[in-house]
Amino acid sequence: MSINIKDYIRTIPDFPHEGIMFRDVTTLFLDPRGFRMAIDQLLHPYAGKRFDKVVGLEARGFILGGAIAHQLSVGFVPIRKAGKLPGQTIAQDYKLEYGEATMEIHDDSLSAGEKVLLVDDLLATGGTAEAGIKLIEKLGAEVIGCAFIIDLPDLGGRAVLEKLGMDVHALTSFSG
Ligand code: 5GP
Repeated sequence: MSINIKDYIRTIPDFPHEGIMFRDVTTLFLDPRGFRMAIDQLLHPYAGKRFDKVVGLEARGFILGGAIAHQLSVGFVPIRKAGKLPGQTIAQDYKLEYGEATMEIHDDSLSAGEKVLLVDDLLATGGTAEAGIKLIEKLGAEVIGCAFIIDLPDLGGRAVLEKLGMDVHALTSFSG
């Protein structure tokens, strides 16, 4: 029987609030075959492409991005919520379901012209990834691909990123 990424993802109803179906990838990370399959499949569409850095979005993007950067033998760059990075940063605000938030990147972590793969576990409205793309571009680097485990197509994130000219790749999706 062939195994599917979706089989490893656990759904937790009413987390973090009532009415939300939280797609939990810790069960995927927990399984050595599932985790390896996820990393291999995230990289598959970019075979033959050259990246200078992998950028991961806090927090689960760090787990994926670290493994991918290791596989590609390139450096890893974290994008974190405001106030968490110790060095000099630049910031980007973005919209949440209720209110606003800010993401930051170290201002010396990317150089102009570097080619970047952006990684996170899940694409919903696209607000987090869009903030990440803006930070990468502010440093003069270029996003070659945006890779996610899960797309929630009902929330429209793919369209938001494609409008920015991004190449978006997700391993699976959940609707409804
Ligand atoms: P967006 O900014 O696209 O609306 O939301 C995506 C961000 O929220 C990602 O960083 C992702 O980790 C987190 N997120 C939102 N909903 C879920 C969920 O159901 N499962 C997981 N694993 N992450 C989620």
